[in-house]
Amino acid sequence: MTIPMNDIAAQLATIRPAIDKRIAAALDHGRFINGPEVGQVEAALAKFCGAGHCVTCANGTDALILSLLALGIGPGDHVICPAFTFVATAEAIAAVGAVPVFADSDPDDFNISVASVGRCLDMLSKAGTPARALIPVDLFGLPARYDQLSKLAEENGIPIICDAAQSFGATRFGQRVGQFGTVTATSFFPSKPLGCFGDGGALFTEDPDLAARLQSLRTHGSGHHKYHHVSVGRNSRLDTIQAAILLEKVAHFQTDIALRNKAAQTYSGLLDGRFRGQKIDGDASSTWAQFAIRFDNQDHRHMAQNALSADGIAHDVHYETPMHRQPAYAGHPTDPAGLGVAEQLSETLLSIPFFPGIQRTSQTRVIDILTQNALGLAA
Ligand SMILES: *Cc1c(COP(=O)(O)O)cnc(C)c1O
Repeated sequence: MTIPMNDIAAQLATIRPAIDKRIAAALDHGRFINGPEVGQVEAALAKFCGAGHCVTCANGTDALILSLLALGIGPGDHVICPAFTFVATAEAIAAVGAVPVFADSDPDDFNISVASVGRCLDMLSKAGTPARALIPVDLFGLPARYDQLSKLAEENGIPIICDAAQSFGATRFGQRVGQFGTVTATSFFPSKPLGCFGDGGALFTEDPDLAARLQSLRTHGSGHHKYHHVSVGRNSRLDTIQAAILLEKVAHFQTDIALRNKAAQTYSGLLDGRFRGQKIDGDASSTWAQFAIRFDNQDHRHMAQNALSADGIAHDVHYETPMHRQPAYAGHPTDPAGLGVAEQLSETLLSIPFFPGIQRTSQTRVIDILTQNALGLAA
């Protein structure tokens, strides 16, 4: 029996009748763009995370791009982000003509290193091109160190755009993602913790003016009516049908988060200190977009990949190549002290099957395979 990375079909099966009903209702009313479900889901999402305003959009990448545009960041501006992330973080910066500046990661929680952000800020100031914004990423569902990062951002007078594509529903200091930074961007790509059945994204902010600018930008920079344009925007709305699907899914999200945490706890218990996972600080909770474990080198990870494949167990590497080594993003400024941790993480992390409701027997089999193969595990 094979064990998949994710099991979206099984999750869908349990809510299928309710989803069918909501899609049928949207087909009946026919308002496929900006239908009533869009406003309803924005209210539900803002309530879920305790944010003042929610603006939905077409996907998580656009959410980042819209944030940058709304904050007036454009050609030649420098924006700090981690080198160890999904490409969309750097891509959004480059897409508005700005320059991504790559910071290193923390070896324990895998998120952007606060010390490295400090070095990047100093380097850019000295070069006469001070950073215009900071985009931390909540990697694998764990919120970044927003207390320390906010202090640095305040000292430098720059906004924080939270890339929360993997972490919607997670918490730090008892607050949900969506309440940190100047603006928070998330994604509803199907495999994210809260996924729709297509592309989708959302933005959260406490600032009503920023929310209004985001609303305008996602609809061609529209002004007081639909053929009046106050800025160069984009076409980036959440489809009514995806909003209808999300309305149903958000009602079950709290349960999903509990199941994700239970599965993470089971893995942690089975690992029993033999493998190093992502360190979750006591003041934080994760939504576990991925469950990644760390090997002591690339060869041992490779042996683990082979052993899992031979047993029909899925696995994946997030992420094989840090941004500064990607052909499209090489040559941008980096932490002057180097990106050693990002490089090490890209060589040693392995994501194993993880989804709400994964069976304990499956989890045991995954860890047994890894243990039996006596691989060099990072202690
Ligand atoms: C998935 C992801 C995005 C982009 O989201 P899409 O909806 O796929 O555009 C951005 N940043 C990170 C860290 C992601 O994992």
